[in-house]
Amino acid sequence: MNTLPEAERHELTADDGVPLQLTRYQGGAKGPVLLVHGAGVWSGMFMLPTVKENFVQYLVRQGYDTWLLDWRASVELPLRQFTLDDAARYDMPAAVRRMREVTKADSVQAVVHCAGSAAFFMSMAAGYLPDVRSVVASQVALHHIVPPATQLKAMLRLPETLDVALDYLSPDEDPQNPVWQAAFGKFADLLSHECDSTVCHRLTFMYGHLYRHARLNRETHERLDEQFGPCNMLTFRHLAQMARAGHAVAFDYGKEENRRRYGNAKPPSYLRPEHLRRPITFLSGEQNGTYMPASTELTYEWLREENGADGYQRKVLEGYGHLDTFMGSTAARDTYPVIVESLEGMA
Ligand SMILES: [Zn+2]
Repeated sequence: MNTLPEAERHELTADDGVPLQLTRYQGGAKGPVLLVHGAGVWSGMFMLPTVKENFVQYLVRQGYDTWLLDWRASVELPLRQFTLDDAARYDMPAAVRRMREVTKADSVQAVVHCAGSAAFFMSMAAGYLPDVRSVVASQVALHHIVPPATQLKAMLRLPETLDVALDYLSPDEDPQNPVWQAAFGKFADLLSHECDSTVCHRLTFMYGHLYRHARLNRETHERLDEQFGPCNMLTFRHLAQMARAGHAVAFDYGKEENRRRYGNAKPPSYLRPEHLRRPITFLSGEQNGTYMPASTELTYEWLREENGADGYQRKVLEGYGHLDTFMGSTAARDTYPVIVESLEGMA
């Protein structure tokens, strides 16, 4: 494993009081670049101990001042119920502000993944992040196109149904709810046969296929429980609403509450292009089983239509799925260079 500069930890508070964490690895003068993880994981997804060179080591070696955000979805922070609207409004601006305060940089770059990317794009579209100069969006941005099995769960209102009895779903062993977790494991084992890991099978039930097995080395697959943890039901409900709508919308509280909050029976859309005039590179794994590649294609095409083609790029990562983009054993050879090339091109 390559050596990293000593980690610099920054505790910060989102604008609604939720505690967040930034971890900085000062690799040089490039960036500063913010990394935003997905839901049900933590910033550790960018610095796996089980691959030869992880994404943070790669960025540092390339001279990037690298900042990892643990936002309110992080499994390293206390579990809470939240919508992606909350994260968009309160977490992302607070993180960028702190980075700018510490580095004195006028603007930052960002690499954002999955639900973290969804929330980051909602934040940008709403005008909260004018000081982000360019972004690499991994797998999803403002359009949410999911595989048929996920769409079926969303149409059946599965997250809403489970929310009556459960606060969260978790892939790991859960000492607080051992009976439920064992039953969930048995059920998930019945549905998946790719391997003999119940953690892996629960993950597939929760998110669809997160990675192509052939892309993960054995140790990474055996130690998945170190990366993943509980995801709260309110976030699942919001993600399911967006999957049904096909694009980013504010949380649907029901007609009456929507009218009170939004002045309209329907929650507002985030498809507002005016704040998205900045260089953006969209990346999709060709074989993504969590968010279909059409997700980034639609946002990319929509932005080109609305704002003109300048500055927008889209790349499809051949032979890759969703999370193996960062966690794959050969990602340092196949996908990290594509991300860094995009950052440099938009520097
Ligand atoms: Zn597996």
